[in-house]
Amino acid sequence: MPDPVAPVLQVALPLPLPRLFDYRAPDAGADDVGRRVRVPFGPRELVGVVAAVGPAGADAPELRPISERLDPAPLLHGELLASLQWLSRYTHAPLGEVLATALPAALRRGEPLPDAHAWAWRLTGAGAAALPGLRAGSRPRRLAELLHGALRDEDALGALLEGWRAAARTLLGRGLAERVAVPASQVAPAPQPGPSPGDEQQAAIDALREAAGFAPMLLDGVTGSGKTEVYLHAIADCLARGRQALVLVPEIGLTPQLLARFRARLGVPVHVAHSGLNDGERARTWAAAWRGEARVVVGTRSAVFTPLPDAGLIVVDEEHDASYKQQDGIRYHARDFALVRGRALGIPVLLGSATPSLETLHNATAGRYHYLRLSRRAGVAQAPEVRVADVRKRPLDAGLSQQMLAAIRGELDAGGQVLVFRNRRGYAPVLLCHDCGWSAQCPHCGTAGQGRPMTVHAQGRRLQCHHCGHRRPSPPACPDCASLALQPQGVGTERIEEVLAARFGDVPVLRIDRGSTRRRDAMERLLGELGERPGILVGTQMLAKGHDLAQLGLVCVVGIDEGLYSADFRSHEKLAQLLIQVAGRAGRAQRPGRVLLQTHHPDHPLLAMLIGGGYHAFAADALALREAAGFPPFAHLALLRAEARHAGPPLAFLQAARQALEAVADGHGDAAPALSGPMPAPMPRRAGMHRAQLLLSADARRDLHAVLRAALPAIHALPEARRVRWSLDVDPVDLY
Ligand code: ADP
Ligand code: ZN
Ligand code: ZN
Repeated sequence: MPDPVAPVLQVALPLPLPRLFDYRAPDAGADDVGRRVRVPFGPRELVGVVAAVGPAGADAPELRPISERLDPAPLLHGELLASLQWLSRYTHAPLGEVLATALPAALRRGEPLPDAHAWAWRLTGAGAAALPGLRAGSRPRRLAELLHGALRDEDALGALLEGWRAAARTLLGRGLAERVAVPASQVAPAPQPGPSPGDEQQAAIDALREAAGFAPMLLDGVTGSGKTEVYLHAIADCLARGRQALVLVPEIGLTPQLLARFRARLGVPVHVAHSGLNDGERARTWAAAWRGEARVVVGTRSAVFTPLPDAGLIVVDEEHDASYKQQDGIRYHARDFALVRGRALGIPVLLGSATPSLETLHNATAGRYHYLRLSRRAGVAQAPEVRVADVRKRPLDAGLSQQMLAAIRGELDAGGQVLVFRNRRGYAPVLLCHDCGWSAQCPHCGTAGQGRPMTVHAQGRRLQCHHCGHRRPSPPACPDCASLALQPQGVGTERIEEVLAARFGDVPVLRIDRGSTRRRDAMERLLGELGERPGILVGTQMLAKGHDLAQLGLVCVVGIDEGLYSADFRSHEKLAQLLIQVAGRAGRAQRPGRVLLQTHHPDHPLLAMLIGGGYHAFAADALALREAAGFPPFAHLALLRAEARHAGPPLAFLQAARQALEAVADGHGDAAPALSGPMPAPMPRRAGMHRAQLLLSADARRDLHAVLRAALPAIHALPEARRVRWSLDVDPVDLY
């Protein structure tokens, strides 16, 4: 017989149901909150987190008992648990799903908190004996030399020898080297000094030093102005106070070059968290931070969930970057959540960017954030010179003007490197029949009236849809008129690469986009091989940040014209940021930089504003437009999305949801959110799914959330909800 007065555990389970689940447990007590438990659920078992311990209700004897406690002590507690509960309320998502998103996969599955040791390598006896016989200059030989008589940790090896992992596997396979666990605190390189800060950098460093408690700060510094130097000083100060620092960087910004710089300068192990790590590695970083052993954690979006028992500082680099917003599941924004945690932790949160988001700029100019500026490039580097090349009526070769080709030749002859930016991967955006006008459309995307062209790849041999991934070989003849005159229209990065390789055969031409560098390290390897030699890089926005190229003297921007006329309210902001960031790649060291922007719309106000007044002139203007139109940051949005195989159910669900929202909005009068829709999504069909949306917009967050909170139980219960996949996105970044 279970004890009828024993308290019950209220468990958050990773299920799309907005509630907790009650279980019995022997000796349940308040210290169970935050522990993981394994529980029976229907015929299955699930891993959940105890969210609360409640008094036994009348039904307590019927409750099932938990299967087991997984943690000897609470895994989630204090600030992190409270912040995640806040996130659950803010995203209106079940706590169980939020906690599952926050935990590394291995912990979510119920595995124990791993040991947080570091790994190091050394030669075996056989390895020492075999060393002289290894081929001189080969990677295994160079690695063996590094390990001869020395135990070297993996961080250090990463900085010493590129491609060391493959070499280590070779040596391991032949019994010549071995991998051993060492305590994390043991492996600290001696810190190296950096350049002495300039006046503006010093002012920013001082402001951080003086910050007491929660202090949101914007470090608004032009590209190459030394923002990273400021981060390094602030982190060093934080470490000196005995505190932990968390640094968030965009997915593409977490390069080995950046890690090496952090490691060299800070003199403590730097733990990483990004999507390229396996589950075990991610869990180890999390555990090391949880135990307070990791003093500096550098990671991408989900690293914002790192436990920080001794928190001292959070840095969000490139805070405007779109990769901080999670686009499915729990749709959190890592920058915004970093601010929430910083407030709860009572620490400074430093947001850095050369192109701050309009939201952040608005907060900074309104005095809600400390506003720190770095107005000049650091050291000897000069701001790049930007010129617009008007290509109307000019002959183009694969989209490149004569002027641009001549500028490329000039830069290469002067020993520099060139970056050609085109934000369109593939060979060409469209395959067109020259005789009848047919073009290849994706069968799974778009609608009858509004098709979605498939992108041409592999020199024309293959078609691929960039919305759903559908691929097929190109047809040999036009399916409508049997003509053989099928022609790729327009240019993508592949075609530009082909033309440049043919024309500039004397230098390497490297393509950097998601097609060519699927693997995380591939881009680094390509750039490493290029080194300081003259050469050309062709690529998409992957090239807008990441690895610093000291020899980059010329940036060519091709074909941004589509972006000038996009309908999304954020499209101009994104384009302006992209242009400034890409342009900012040029001239970051001694070599002066030039930017050539090729367009058919040289008089477009966006381009004129960016070139005349820079990002801040653009931003001031864009903010005024947002205010007039009632868009963020002057209004707060939430987007209810629904999709299904047929067009009817999403609209029917959203119509019913609208009624549920209207029913609770009455009490809010004029402050109630305005509803627009249901309407088909801007991309009305994708991957075979018909998509629709309902937009909520309110002047005050409070009203938006109150109405959502009141209406969501009814929306969850709608019969129409069972016929669609639906989701709620608070503060959507994209409205499609
Ligand atoms: P950002 O993060 O703003 O792009 P970085 O911190 O990477 O800029 O600095 C750009 C370059 O300028 C780096 O090579 C860096 O070493 C150098 N640098 C930064 N601050 C200084 C300084 N005070 N004096 C000399 N060089 C500096
Ligand atoms: Zn045809
Ligand atoms: Zn498609």
